[in-house]
Amino acid sequence: MLSIKNLQARIEEKEILKGINLEIKPGEVHAIMGPNGSGKSTLASVLAGREEFEVTSGDVNFLGKNLLEMAPEERAREGVFLAFQYPIEIPGVSTVNFMKTALNQIRVARGLQALDAVSFLQLMKEKMKLVEIDQSLLNRSLNEGFSGGEKKRNEIFQMAMLEPKLAILDETDSGLDIDALKIVANGVNKLKSKNNATIVVTHYQRLLDYIVPDFVHVLYKGRIVKSGGKELALELEAKGYDWIKEEVELA
Ligand code: ADP
Ligand code: MG
Ligand code: MG
Repeated sequence: MLSIKNLQARIEEKEILKGINLEIKPGEVHAIMGPNGSGKSTLASVLAGREEFEVTSGDVNFLGKNLLEMAPEERAREGVFLAFQYPIEIPGVSTVNFMKTALNQIRVARGLQALDAVSFLQLMKEKMKLVEIDQSLLNRSLNEGFSGGEKKRNEIFQMAMLEPKLAILDETDSGLDIDALKIVANGVNKLKSKNNATIVVTHYQRLLDYIVPDFVHVLYKGRIVKSGGKELALELEAKGYDWIKEEVELA
């Protein structure tokens, strides 16, 4: 589904990603962990197509297409969901209306019919139940005055609505309380299928108490320096990152 080969990227002359290799198949959940500043958010941003990052080398293939050549909207159309693609606050536009526009744009771009009001509401009700989000939140202006937990819930709702093939969730290092972690985890677990894949970028081992990843990768100084199964997350929880840093320095 996603094949990343020797991906290198920089920002303002500073090399951040120094050769990332990663293969993701349908049905898999991959966790990307690592100490602060190791490049996790940069990797997510590059996959999202954020322009402040300059890709200097490497290939990213998504379902047979060159992801790096696509504009962010094209990536979404092809089935990539980037949680922080819509963190914006839009006063006066409710989440419901925003989602209707976003979903129908994607449908039309994929050659499907736009959903009429009734079908949209039906789909929305179904997904609201799935991610346990309250209608009142969806009637409010998008993200305006949302708490951290509400933003997360809304993000997972958007993901449920858009049914992406590949979801990339970058959990920022601060401000995620246990409730927000559980919201993200429940959403990922419920939306998991054999046809989609998820990359969860996290600084927190704790998130992985709730999401069981198939693979865990440790990013350090712009490289994936260790990969393993879910037991690697437990090992990191018990031992921290120092032993990995030592392994890297010794190698
Ligand atoms: P992580 O998400 O793993 O904590 P980041 O990808 O956010 O790491 O950051 C990796 C490195 O890139 C850090 O050294 C950070 O200071 C630098 N960096 C990130 N964004 C910017 C930016 N906009 N301008 C300059 N440096 C940046
Ligand atoms: Mg950070
Ligand atoms: Mg980060």
